[in-house]
Amino acid sequence: MARKYLIETYGCQMNVHDSERMAGLLEQAGFEPAQDAADADVVVINTCSVRERAEEKLYTRLGELRVLAAEQGHDPIVAVAGCVAQQEGQAIFKRAPGVADVVVGTQAIRRLPMLVEQAAAKKGTGVVLPGSSHSGRSGGAGHKKTPVPFFLDLNAYDDVTWPLGVTRRSDPVKAYVTIIEGCNEFCSFCVVPYTRGHERMRAKADILAEVREAAVSGHCEVQLLGQIVNHYAAPDDPACDFASLLGAIHDIDGIERIRFASPHPRHVTPDFLDAMARLPKICRHLHLPVQSGSTRVLESMRRRYTRELYLELVASIRDRLPDVALSTDMIVGFPGESDADFEETMSLTAAVGYHSMFSFKYSERPNTLAEKRLPDDVPEDVKTRRIMALQALQRDIQTSLHERMVGKEVAVLVDAASRRRATELSGRTSTNVVVNLPGSAEWIGQTVPVRIERAGPHSVWGQPCRSK
Ligand code: SF4
Repeated sequence: MARKYLIETYGCQMNVHDSERMAGLLEQAGFEPAQDAADADVVVINTCSVRERAEEKLYTRLGELRVLAAEQGHDPIVAVAGCVAQQEGQAIFKRAPGVADVVVGTQAIRRLPMLVEQAAAKKGTGVVLPGSSHSGRSGGAGHKKTPVPFFLDLNAYDDVTWPLGVTRRSDPVKAYVTIIEGCNEFCSFCVVPYTRGHERMRAKADILAEVREAAVSGHCEVQLLGQIVNHYAAPDDPACDFASLLGAIHDIDGIERIRFASPHPRHVTPDFLDAMARLPKICRHLHLPVQSGSTRVLESMRRRYTRELYLELVASIRDRLPDVALSTDMIVGFPGESDADFEETMSLTAAVGYHSMFSFKYSERPNTLAEKRLPDDVPEDVKTRRIMALQALQRDIQTSLHERMVGKEVAVLVDAASRRRATELSGRTSTNVVVNLPGSAEWIGQTVPVRIERAGPHSVWGQPCRSK
């Protein structure tokens, strides 16, 4: 019987894609997917540390795995990957002794199968070894684990190539393709430069080959990933920036929609907006993280633009791309944020009219400039009051934007069956609005015209303009 793996993923699309890569590596090493931890020989916890309590979530999960081992005698190899692994390193072995076997940093995931085998070999009698049976292994609840060496040195892994044919894509419609790893911006609140390292560009030839491969395997939408996608500069083609990369991807047969996350406001160029205007496969959606509406706070965040410059940029985008939907990220309660600063966040939100927003209460992240230099001085109850006010405003804006769609016909790329009803599907418009519709599962992967009948704050409902 084949050995089995389970990957539990927390966090952003980058982590989801890393999990797809790790799944592919483990399958190449002979593992098959498991349904749950009780059925798995290897459990990988792919962690995120962008928000508070990520570490707590990890240790809670490790505690649950310890209980599984103690009560059911099932003691899989446990590997911790992702940003918390990068950030905590050896501390994970100390804080959860006897649970984690492997800690693997964000830039070393291709070593995962080797580390898993090393951990298996250290487990003593009856451990998983290549070719052994799933049911035949017995780690035992009480056995003492000897953690294997881990790989965390970000600078030791500048290689951002990735072999074709390995990634096990979890979405039948949308393919994630990484174009940039890491970030050099060092915004004062952000842990990413410390967990994912400095910015490294992937070769244009590799990116195009992966997009072609995704198209051949039936993925009609590609989502390009990078911390600042619009900073792209091809290492193998000095003339290729992000705008020309979009043009090259646009030419690939089988790709119908192109998305990307995330551009940085200060790297939006006229060429980039021209490419969006010119190339119809590029979705009419731009995620433009602002983080605060106050210039004073933006400066303290080291975002390198002002409220005024951001609003000018929004105006020029709307001028060039009148049908584009904007979304953003917002932080409330950043150190030193006054009531007046927060009111600027509220007024900017109302002025821009975002189609969606990821909003968070500020929390200190390890190693960041804000953690080292700025006291976390906005009381928790004030942060809570502010986030509730901001989210209420955003909900009203979204509802009103969605209500404007009622009665209109939109093109929906169907991407999933609804979790709520067997006969319901869901998909997205080019502007990234979630549309629920009745239909057949055969439509997944097809673009369907839908007349919108009803709107809510998070999605809309409609009837397909073709028979089922
Ligand atoms: S641009 Fe700023 S917020 Fe975005 S990943 Fe880089 S440091 Fe973090």
